This record gives sequence, structure tokens and C-alpha cells, in this order.
Amino acid sequence: MDTKKLKYLEGLLLKMKKEFEEELAELEEKFNLSQQDSSHDISAYPTHPADLGSDTESREESSYLITSIVKKLGRVNHAIEKICSGTYGTCENCESKIPFEHLKTIPYVELCVKCGKKT
Ligand SMILES: [Zn+2]
Repeated sequence: MDTKKLKYLEGLLLKMKKEFEEELAELEEKFNLSQQDSSHDISAYPTHPADLGSDTESREESSYLITSIVKKLGRVNHAIEKICSGTYGTCENCESKIPFEHLKTIPYVELCVKCGKKT
């Protein structure tokens, strides 16, 4: 792959990394706040099972979101490492070249279209 395309994809990855990190920080903040709120609610109103239920749900939802962002962030970091080591753009399964158009859509993809379909 030529340097210009690689630089472009590296830029996309770094931007994604920043966005994921910001999103994560935001969610973690919200997550901590909701925990504080709920403990306050519990002491003020000890018998509100409905509130407790919805709170657990939103907490589960944010922890699910956090997990999925952490996973994506891991893939982005992995792709950035591959750019540094010069293995970026190569399928991790069959070692064929991943087309630029495909990388442009999902810059952190590890597999070529063919192998990606198999999994
Ligand atoms: Zn492949």
C-alpha cells in the first residue's frame, strides 16, 4: 500500500481512537454518577423496587456499552500497532491484501472480506 493511503487510514484510526476514548470517559462518568444517585435514592426511599429495577437495567446497559467500546478500542489500537510494524492491510488469516476500499470503511478490520464472511 502506498504511504499516502496508509497515512490516510492511520488518520482515521487515530480519530476513532480519540472518539472511543472520549465516549468511554463520558460513559464511565455517567456510570459513576448513576451509582451515586441510586445509593442516595435507596437511603431516602428504601421501598422503591420499580426505581431499583430500571436503575439496574441502565447500569447493565452502560456496562454493556463500555465493554463493546473497549473491544473496538482494542481493535483500533491493534491496527495502529500493525501500521507501526508494517503488517497493516494484510489479512490475519490468509495473509492476502485487504482492499483499500474495505479498510476505508472499517479501518480496524483484521480479516479480508472472504475470511470475514467465514467467521
Ligand atoms: Zn483472508
